[in-house]
Amino acid sequence: MTAQHTTDDFDRQHLWHPYTSITDPLPAYKVKRADGCMIELENGQQLIDGMSSWWCTIHGYNHPVLNAAVTAQLNKMSHVMFGGLTHEPAIALGKMLLEITPPSLNKIFYADSGSVAVEAALKMAVQYWVAQKKINKTNFVTVRSGYHGDTWNAMSVCDPVTGMHRIFGNTLPLRYFAAAPQIGFDEEWDASDIAPLAALIRTHQDELAGLILEPIVQGAGGMRFYHPEYLRQAAQLCKENNILLIFDEIATGFGRTGKLFACEHAAVAPDILCLGKALTGGYMTLSAVITSTAVAETISNGSPGMFMHGPTFMANPLACAVALASIKLLLSTDWKTKVKSIEEQLTQALAPAKDYPQVEDVRILGAIAVIEMKNPVSMANIQKRFVEEGVWIRPFGKLVYIMPPFIIGTEELNKLTQALLKVVKEIN
Ligand SMILES: *Cc1c(COP(=O)(O)O)cnc(C)c1O
Repeated sequence: MTAQHTTDDFDRQHLWHPYTSITDPLPAYKVKRADGCMIELENGQQLIDGMSSWWCTIHGYNHPVLNAAVTAQLNKMSHVMFGGLTHEPAIALGKMLLEITPPSLNKIFYADSGSVAVEAALKMAVQYWVAQKKINKTNFVTVRSGYHGDTWNAMSVCDPVTGMHRIFGNTLPLRYFAAAPQIGFDEEWDASDIAPLAALIRTHQDELAGLILEPIVQGAGGMRFYHPEYLRQAAQLCKENNILLIFDEIATGFGRTGKLFACEHAAVAPDILCLGKALTGGYMTLSAVITSTAVAETISNGSPGMFMHGPTFMANPLACAVALASIKLLLSTDWKTKVKSIEEQLTQALAPAKDYPQVEDVRILGAIAVIEMKNPVSMANIQKRFVEEGVWIRPFGKLVYIMPPFIIGTEELNKLTQALLKVVKEIN
């Protein structure tokens, strides 16, 4: 089966896709509908979804409970401004978020995407120190191989090599980067792993507002899993050196790593937490920045007496309503057992890939499986091969990975892993 007739001429000529050329775009397969773990293309071909539309659709597509939540809210109001007005979806979602996130976090700022949540989190950290007249504490430290989004300051804390620093160069604020954590999630902890970060923090604490990290799983910056002890020590360093700890759980939140939030692997709470992606079950864009009473009150007691951010679509009622429904749905299922069984199946099924000559590493955590190749793969070729095999998997660089919806059945997951092994084996 060829894939040509699933692309669209207007699309090719006029629509940007993520990270593509407009003159030589990668193919974009046209989707007719999606249901459960199945994405149906215009030509009728059905693909098993291995991506959860970039970490989002944990309950699969077209879920009756989530559809009902959107429809019910739609019939009341799809949106009202959050300036001077409030509404039940924002309040009910807020109560739920405070119930499931670390108890030290109490104050919620709703934003409209993950990148904007990261911007808001960084701004909170700066305002926190400015409010205390520590006007030099405006910079940030992070680790290499991170990914925090595509807006200006989010970009500045992404990995300086695989991120966009080369292109945007001196237009980006200069951040401090420690070496990425090297000790894997299951490996034996070695104190040397935290030394580069510790040195940076101790040297530059007077100019640092905060440390931003993706807890446990570094996502789009390299799909790397690191040791929980790293987080515990990082949190300790932040306390000792007076800098705020920001966790970006935009990819890892809502069960993906086997815990509801990845920071639970280390039993560490940040000062500021960013949520997004699976927050709405993949129905629409929404993010949340949650901070402690101390941080929020300090900002509010400083000049100018307020937090300086307010997106037009802040706390969009449709998005809040579906987010609440998605979290309730997740909590009403035995998601822990389900993610565990996905993890076990992925571990067994993908073990053979460790022996393939073209494979560097195979790693699995929760409902995430990564095959790291020795060399970068051709995204267009590989994606086409996956489509021919009836699965939707989108690799980047050396990484061929899957993070399926939690509702995936054993047989569907089997097809996904078999296609993954088959196509990876063909690469030379
Ligand atoms: C996707 C992602 C973001 C950015 O979210 P957008 O909604 O794409 O702006 C930020 N941080 C992490 C860890 C992400 O995975």
